[in-house]
Amino acid sequence: MNHKPRTITLMPGDGIGPEISLAVLEILEAAKVPLIFEPVDVTPVVDSNGRASVPKQVIESMQRTKVGLKGPLMTPVGTGFRSLNLTLRQLFNLYANVRPCRSLPGVETVYGDVDVVTIRENTEGEYSGIEHTLVNGVVQSIKLITRAASLRVAEYGFSYALAMKRKKITAVHEKSSMRMSDGLFITCVREVANKYKSQMESLGITYEEVTLNTVCLKIVDNPKRFDVLVLPNLYGDIISDTCAGLVGGLGLTPSGNIGTAGAIFESVHGTAPNIAGKDLANPTALLLSTVMMLHYIQFHSYADLIEQAVIKTIKDDNVRTMDLGGKAKCSEFTKAVIKNLK
Ligand code: ATP
Ligand code: MG
Repeated sequence: MNHKPRTITLMPGDGIGPEISLAVLEILEAAKVPLIFEPVDVTPVVDSNGRASVPKQVIESMQRTKVGLKGPLMTPVGTGFRSLNLTLRQLFNLYANVRPCRSLPGVETVYGDVDVVTIRENTEGEYSGIEHTLVNGVVQSIKLITRAASLRVAEYGFSYALAMKRKKITAVHEKSSMRMSDGLFITCVREVANKYKSQMESLGITYEEVTLNTVCLKIVDNPKRFDVLVLPNLYGDIISDTCAGLVGGLGLTPSGNIGTAGAIFESVHGTAPNIAGKDLANPTALLLSTVMMLHYIQFHSYADLIEQAVIKTIKDDNVRTMDLGGKAKCSEFTKAVIKNLK
């Protein structure tokens, strides 16, 4: 494990964000991961005209480090504020949202060992944000699909599947209803599948195209039928939350936002104000987001070390936070993970 130290922008976030960030930092330090964290405050700043915006320091830090780790953020109330998430997404062109949904050994769920990764196009599709009134009482929303964005997310999906030695890639569509838009999306994914054909064959990775309604039906019947899903924006939004539900909720689910100019890793859950400041939060989702980040920067052995320690803590030691039916405080869980780092 000989790595040059790497600087990471840390956005601890609101609510339980600071507590779970602290837990992650303690674990990384104990594991001697050569990372230097640059903490930044993302609280919106208000200018003399009353307009709120993301502090410059955040953007400057991200531009320098290219990799961010982020806790949950409070949704700002009021209008006219471009959310930090949106600003970061546009600034760093975070085009792919990646969510590995894996049941943690020891956390009982309805389905047993689920292991599905959703890779969602994150910049266009149904969430292009292009909406207008045609005439009174008639509105139109544009589903924008481009060849460039579809190829880009597909490319990420296949390189992820190859790097992580996955088994199958499923492209999700409704192209019989949305002939042109989903048609183009599928054409692009298929093009990338053909490009990687021989590498996939040698690793035994297969490719299929399945309609959204079939995915919905089959994933709640037998999630083990799926492995890596590549989806347009809206379908990805829905299916990724479905998958989080299959493995025991948002509290355990990590995510990564991969961009052309950087990447940001974050837990999927919110700020949980009801338990904030009480040392009750489960840091696992942010910790597993950190594991994803370590894979992204090629620190694979550190990623495995930390992931194994988390699994051992929950499964073998049965040290669990309240949300998993246990009694451990966040700080106690953190100490137990540290003890298992070896
Ligand atoms: P927000 O408005 O920021 O989304 P929220 O109250 O909706 O906040 P969520 O994080 O979305 O909070 O989660 C809903 C509930 O799930 C929380 O109130 C909390 O009880 C529980 N929860 C979420 N994340 C965690 C966690 N990491 N550890 C323990 N419990 C959690
Ligand atoms: Mg919420």
